[in-house]
Amino acid sequence: MTGSPPATEALYQELILEHNRKPRNFREMAGADRTIEGRNPLCGDALTLWVKLGAGDRIDDVSFKGQGCAISKASASLMTTAIKGKTLGEAEALFEKFHRLVRGELNDAEQRELGSLRAFAGVARFPMRVKCASLAWHALHSALGAPTELAVSTEGEGPAGPPLEGA
Ligand code: ZN
Repeated sequence: MTGSPPATEALYQELILEHNRKPRNFREMAGADRTIEGRNPLCGDALTLWVKLGAGDRIDDVSFKGQGCAISKASASLMTTAIKGKTLGEAEALFEKFHRLVRGELNDAEQRELGSLRAFAGVARFPMRVKCASLAWHALHSALGAPTELAVSTEGEGPAGPPLEGA
């Protein structure tokens, strides 16, 4: 359990459903600096992520398209709103924090710093859903670390195993 009161959990569920119905930044992007495809074979989630970088290593624009369950889509949608305008370093720090959130490793104060992203704290109780929630973030992580087009898969990351990125 995350310790959130039931009313808060209901609010978060509504936020996820709303982002699934009306995903933000859900479009293809021309002239992107990074393009990456992410796949979660266990659930059938698939998405493409586009990132445009600006001065000072800032994420000028980010968008995605794809199909999958409500969690994967809502997570991608909320991620794009969270990282737009952030520097690569800030986005990477958010990735780390989100990853710990969905594994149930953040305390209440740390969770609060994540704002809307905190809506996914509940997936920590459902190991299968952790991959859905982190798909877009894994794609982002790979996109920011590699200068070319590539693909990423959540396959091989066991629910209880060590993080993919190691380090
Ligand atoms: Zn899924």
